Amino acid sequence: MTTQVKAPAKSGAPQGTTAVVRTVADLRAHVAAWHGQGLRVGLVPTMGALHHGHLSLIDRLADHVDRVIVSIFVNPAQFGPNEDFSAYPRREAQDLAALETVGADLAYLPDVKVMYPQGFRTNIHVKGLSEGLEGDVRPGHFDGVATVVMKLLMQSQCDCAIFGEKDFQQFAVLRRLVIDLDLPVEIVAGPIIREPDGLAASSRNVYLNTEQRRIAGQLNLVLADLRRRAMAGEDLRVLEQEGEKALLAKGFDRVDYVRFCNAESLETAEDLAAPVQLLAVAVLGKTRLLDNVQIG
Ligand code: AMP
Repeated sequence: MTTQVKAPAKSGAPQGTTAVVRTVADLRAHVAAWHGQGLRVGLVPTMGALHHGHLSLIDRLADHVDRVIVSIFVNPAQFGPNEDFSAYPRREAQDLAALETVGADLAYLPDVKVMYPQGFRTNIHVKGLSEGLEGDVRPGHFDGVATVVMKLLMQSQCDCAIFGEKDFQQFAVLRRLVIDLDLPVEIVAGPIIREPDGLAASSRNVYLNTEQRRIAGQLNLVLADLRRRAMAGEDLRVLEQEGEKALLAKGFDRVDYVRFCNAESLETAEDLAAPVQLLAVAVLGKTRLLDNVQIG
């Protein structure tokens, strides 16, 4: 499904006026001016290679704030040594053009030295939520995410920030971070935006060849079937095993996990008494595809 993206509803900024800053001082100067006018400021943290999932977050955030900042930073700290940091798509000119089209007010594009100056030593670890699922497959990943997001929130002094539910565990980690550290930032969730065949939009989908792209569209269908069967009362552990088998039979090369989890703690769910989320990662070649669906 393609989402129609409108300009930030309350920004008043005509389209085509996205300012670009690359330093904390310049970022804060814009935000201080807006706060001086009594405006509420929101942040959409991204790693760029923007797609309609990212743009939907800008649109949604505009309902909560007067000015929207989009940060683009491919954060080395959240990539493992054998992951795709250097291959990760970087498309600054295209991204800035997309931001102008949707009327984002400010683009913040720090480089690595701005985010991690010489002597940088701090690491933020959100216990428990950072372990298991993605945390097991990508050790240290959520420390990299929590640390960079903490920095972006502090640098921008934003009043509100939005994160996509596509990265469900990431959302849980960041929601906890903000609560635990009493950050005066409202956190908003953006629903998963999907391609016409149901594949969750992702910057990494460009890695898929034609055959892999066809198979990728099966992931959400398998999850929808598991959801239906869970709600009909089938055993969750058996469904996880069958889900894994079904994905391999559809042509996925590997399945990292298919797990029914408590939607808040992300602990393995034994039943559907409390809100449950089904989280899965299936792999095609080197591309890990994340998806999740609410049960109930
Ligand atoms: P990324 O650039 O992959 O770090 O993503 C930046 C933000 O966009 C994160 O909050 C993601 O959860 C969110 N996001 C990425 N893909 C989607 C999608 N398909 N639907 C909704 N949000 C998304």
